[in-house]
Amino acid sequence: MRYSALQNVTLNLPRLAYEAGGDNTRLFAKLGERIAIAAKAHREKRDFITRLLSHKASGPLTLLNMDLDGTPYLRMHRCTYLIGMVGMNELIQYHTGEELHGSVESMKFGLKVIAHMKLLADELSRKYDMRFVLEQTPAESTAYRFAKLDLKHFPEEALTVVKGNRGEGEVYYTNSTLFDVGAPMNPIERVQLEGRFHPLIEAGALTPPAESLADFVIKTFKNTKNDQIAFSPEFTSCRACGKVSRGLHEACLWCRSTEVDGITRITGYFTKISSWNKGKIGELKDRYRNQGWLAGRNA
Ligand SMILES: [Zn+2]
Repeated sequence: MRYSALQNVTLNLPRLAYEAGGDNTRLFAKLGERIAIAAKAHREKRDFITRLLSHKASGPLTLLNMDLDGTPYLRMHRCTYLIGMVGMNELIQYHTGEELHGSVESMKFGLKVIAHMKLLADELSRKYDMRFVLEQTPAESTAYRFAKLDLKHFPEEALTVVKGNRGEGEVYYTNSTLFDVGAPMNPIERVQLEGRFHPLIEAGALTPPAESLADFVIKTFKNTKNDQIAFSPEFTSCRACGKVSRGLHEACLWCRSTEVDGITRITGYFTKISSWNKGKIGELKDRYRNQGWLAGRNA
């Protein structure tokens, strides 16, 4: 299949709201400017890789030039160029005063922003003959980085919407177009509303998991526009006895050692919690779940 997304450039959405100062026209103009910059970055990368590939077998990308079926392994003309987004929730919160899940109007405004992004991406695709596609960035580090940068450069504005624990530096923006992870909503309602963004986002879309799996799957595909659902169990890995148990626990269920590490999939893939940046730790603590979890856990 040889699918290749050559690069992902992610937009810091809350910053657009800070710069727009509540003005719709300015907000959409800023959005246009930023998408144009993203497209420029993609073009530069494409030109650079094309130049490297032109050296064929004597260049640094020999493997990608490998030609077994009449075309090189990396087919540049078929590449996709991703445009991601972080912090739609905080953009809406700063711009309208309500979070994305707060009202029908804020949800509608969010959809308007994404629809506009899609329109601009499609225009740029035609203009440059490249495939620009919106993606819900699995922002393992970006959500933290953007929040930190904005607290530095737009401290007054960012302080009003940044999520997490500022005292501990565990700050983050909400991923892509998702709702506040701490918002108390039932999972069906969450996927239903979050799924309304999916028809506009062609590359992968993510939504947190839930209980009652079978019922959940049926209801989701019958009643929502979601493209995909991922169920992500969590695990505790013990450094003392080496065993793994289901769920996040303070101590190993096998040997009671507290030398444990959690393994969970907060966005794109499974990782050990001890390897996370502070922003992701902040998000984990805020994450809303149906059942009691991490009760009394302070890590
Ligand atoms: Zn153990």
